[in-house]
Amino acid sequence: MSDLVQKDAALIWHPFTPLVGNDDPLLVKSAEGIYLHLTDGRKVIDAVSSWWVNLHGHSHPHIVKALQSQIAELDHVIFAGFTHEPAIKLAENLLMILPANQSKVFFSDNGSTAVEVALKMSFQFWTNQGIARKKVIAIEGSYHGDTVGAMSVGSRGMFTAPFDPYLFDVLFIDFPISGSKTVEQFSTLVHNNEIGAFIFEPLVQGAGGMRMYSPQILDELIRIARSNGVVCIADEVFTGFGRTGKMFASDYLDEKPDIICISKGITGGTMPLGVTSCSEKIIKAFTDADFSKTFFHGHSYTGNPLACAVANASYELLVSETCQQQIRAIGNLHEEFALTLKSHPRVKEARSLGTILAIELHTLEGTSYANEMRKSIYSFFMSRDILLRPLGNIIYMLPPYCITAAELNRIYRCIEEFLDQLG
Ligand code: PMP
Repeated sequence: MSDLVQKDAALIWHPFTPLVGNDDPLLVKSAEGIYLHLTDGRKVIDAVSSWWVNLHGHSHPHIVKALQSQIAELDHVIFAGFTHEPAIKLAENLLMILPANQSKVFFSDNGSTAVEVALKMSFQFWTNQGIARKKVIAIEGSYHGDTVGAMSVGSRGMFTAPFDPYLFDVLFIDFPISGSKTVEQFSTLVHNNEIGAFIFEPLVQGAGGMRMYSPQILDELIRIARSNGVVCIADEVFTGFGRTGKMFASDYLDEKPDIICISKGITGGTMPLGVTSCSEKIIKAFTDADFSKTFFHGHSYTGNPLACAVANASYELLVSETCQQQIRAIGNLHEEFALTLKSHPRVKEARSLGTILAIELHTLEGTSYANEMRKSIYSFFMSRDILLRPLGNIIYMLPPYCITAAELNRIYRCIEEFLDQLG
């Protein structure tokens, strides 16, 4: 073990990582494009975009330049009573690509806080109007982050068990597959007039296992919620910025959400930033001279100019025809590859949406995050210099958009090799 890794073990507590019984973490020296360069000389493909954040490849020169010029100009400033061009420009850019009903953005610094802001906005939307609508509906299997509010609207399970007594009550509807009773179930809940908000991951539940559902059924749910005034919150922290093939998963919908949470890809995967956008309907409930109706929420780094500057640079790359073409190309290749796996005896389901590919494996243990297969999958691909961090028995990939067809094919061939050696 190198000195640095030894110090790491002594001093650092890593996320989602037990404190005993782990392999040593890999020491990364640098990263460029889709590759992570390790200190031992290995060059590993970052096929999961470093927890789904990276869009254009690591250390993209356009983003590096934007950060360098911004830090030389303005590092950070309190965002109450002050403002700056990078934040204003970013608001303008985001509102250009977000669904047309979105009219203002609120800055925070990660996906969980973007969700916290959305929940608090929706709660206060009702209290500011003196209306008691205290219940929230979420979808079974959902994940919305690790802060207490975001955890409350996520499915309960092994990860939340120690905190369950502290989470607020939420009504969970079944995962909306067509032909299910989810719509009726939802409709009954909504019509008791106590529901204030409905929060969902549009079209794909990420951490829940890359589970996909149709825009038609989500449109139906939002329509029912709308008819009863329920605030609809789309958590696009994972699905935003082209991951699903369109700029936002909400772009597949006819019914647009009242509030949208974004983060992860917003800075191209370079700096922490969260944004919660909302429609005029929400804004109206806060537009009041009564000081007590103010949205009392903020973070020290709200609107950080460096994060905004890199987000603007990432936006410029994202809306370019080159990048849009790359997103389409990845989507087509994933779709073709998923089709070839459908009849594989070890594959329960191969599915894709845009740049997201997921392969659910048959296993006696059943599908779960804790499924022991995760260890053998991870080490099989790492031994071939490909970072694929499965969700239990679900292999998935969502690469940076700059990946080439040849590099994608290399990963596909390794996946085939993995499946075939399972016998
Ligand atoms: N919402 C969704 C849909 C997510 O996938 C995640 C993170 N995986 C979050 C919220 C939380 O984001 P963060 O990890 O930045 O807090």
